[in-house]
Amino acid sequence: MALFFNEEFCRHVQTSFHPESPERLKGIIQKLKLHGLWSDVVSSTGGCEDRLKLIHDEEYIGLLRDGGNFNLTMDTFVHPETYEIAALSAKCGVDAVEHSKKEESASFALTRPPGHHAGSDYGMGFCYFNNIAIAAEGLLRGGDHRIAIVDPDVHHGNGTEHIFTDRADVLYISTHQMGIFPGTGSVDFLGTGEGEGFTINIPFPSGSGDSTYLAALSRLVVPIVSQFDPDAILVSLGTDGHYRDPLASLSLSSVGYLEYAKGLITLSEGCRKRITFFLEGGYDVPALSEVVASIVGAFKGVETPLEFTDAGDDECVGMAAIERCSRNASKYWRL
Ligand SMILES: [Zn+2]
Repeated sequence: MALFFNEEFCRHVQTSFHPESPERLKGIIQKLKLHGLWSDVVSSTGGCEDRLKLIHDEEYIGLLRDGGNFNLTMDTFVHPETYEIAALSAKCGVDAVEHSKKEESASFALTRPPGHHAGSDYGMGFCYFNNIAIAAEGLLRGGDHRIAIVDPDVHHGNGTEHIFTDRADVLYISTHQMGIFPGTGSVDFLGTGEGEGFTINIPFPSGSGDSTYLAALSRLVVPIVSQFDPDAILVSLGTDGHYRDPLASLSLSSVGYLEYAKGLITLSEGCRKRITFFLEGGYDVPALSEVVASIVGAFKGVETPLEFTDAGDDECVGMAAIERCSRNASKYWRL
């Protein structure tokens, strides 16, 4: 598994004590090095505006490029260096999916800043450019026909959903905590126009964890992605559904995250092993680091010891959401 990264990503600081801090990536790298997994690392270079324009409006790009220092939203700040680093983060995702396509193998884009809350003309939730959407669109323009985006971040990827809402060539499946930021991701929203049925939202109540996510994987994600038959699977990997995470209250353990990721890896055998993980959220650095290291290790045949394994959801707390989503989605998919 190739890792894509640039040291510049550690130079972006929102504000002091902001949860989306450089310490997140530094923690991941330290953990990967500890387990001998910091190898096959490709430094992405050359973030360029044309690529951003695949998804984003010129006016919005210009605002980030030329705006200097300002608050994009209450918790998302723009600095003079933000544009260049965010454009490089998008390029990192593009490089990772292109590598995966060429080599028919998995890749991991250690993207920072993250992207799934950014829409075509807005940024929010620590996101500026939608890395995964730019990469997906690039693949489709390059000859692929269908891309599946699976988003297990605890927050709904409103930007990704919004960008592809009326499209039948991008399947978007999000599992997230119900009722928290950004407030979107209703189970009853399945896309619009030609894209109807190609947005699948599975919003879970507080406390949902491993058993809920794994049930969603087997009952919804696996059958729907298999029937969609994508050319590649892209994953918005946020680990903020972890029980240690300070920004939300799901109860996934590191074991649950690893099992979920392994399920997606198995699923990618249906698309010539083309799977790319994109780093999104995850704000407890030790949990984030061990989850990422365990997933990279799974590809490289290295079993990393897991410290945060207390599964808090033995009884599938989110089963009602899975049932309801299944009823809605069965209009479009065999479930
Ligand atoms: Zn998140």
